[in-house]
Amino acid sequence: MNEIKIAVLGSEGVGKSALIVRFFTKRFIGEYASASECIYRKRLTMDGKQMNLELYEPSSQSFQVKLTLNDQIHWADGFIVVYDISDRSSFLAARSLVKHIRERRLGSAKRDAESLIFVVGNKRDLCHMREVGCEEGRRLAGEFRCQFHELSAAEHHQEVALIFSKAVQSAGGKGKASRRRSSGSKSVAKLINNVFGKRRKSV
Ligand code: GDP
Ligand code: MG
Repeated sequence: MNEIKIAVLGSEGVGKSALIVRFFTKRFIGEYASASECIYRKRLTMDGKQMNLELYEPSSQSFQVKLTLNDQIHWADGFIVVYDISDRSSFLAARSLVKHIRERRLGSAKRDAESLIFVVGNKRDLCHMREVGCEEGRRLAGEFRCQFHELSAAEHHQEVALIFSKAVQSAGGKGKASRRRSSGSKSVAKLINNVFGKRRKSV
């Protein structure tokens, strides 16, 4: 079975949980509080192929963080980096995340195709409070060779489903084949255990 792992990253409050829940349940759940990091699993059929999808959302509370950003980057087959179009600081955070992912992935000779990172400007319904222009998002994506989309977890299920499906497809496609088996077969649970194991030993 094809295993696809996608990390959904971005500042607190940009709508990561809302987007994931929207993709998985077709519903918008306004308040979705979770202090710790989450892994969402779903079995999907795409292009006639069955796959196990794991979406990882890191915790926003730093004391709850178990995987470092570099662990997340190593673990994932693809990334959805989310910012909120009504919050400029979240856009700056997205930029530094994208930059970091690019540097790490190129450094270890991993694939650098455009399909690796999807930059998503969420909360497009809040256009009256917009702080980040669509063009700025597009420029960021161009600079780091990412895909770019603006959308709203609160409004359109179709769009969210389309973007996530694209991300899943490209993470499971060409790039997947070139990944080293060892990292490809690592589950988040194992990674978390590893991290804790190491920590425990070092205390
Ligand atoms: P996370 O911290 O990135 O997981 O963000 P959440 O998914 O918890 O969302 C944070 C807040 O933004 C919640 O109050 C959501 O209801 C709200 N939210 C998420 N997506 C949208 C959206 O597309 N439009 C609007 N207006 N609010 C949204
Ligand atoms: Mg969340």
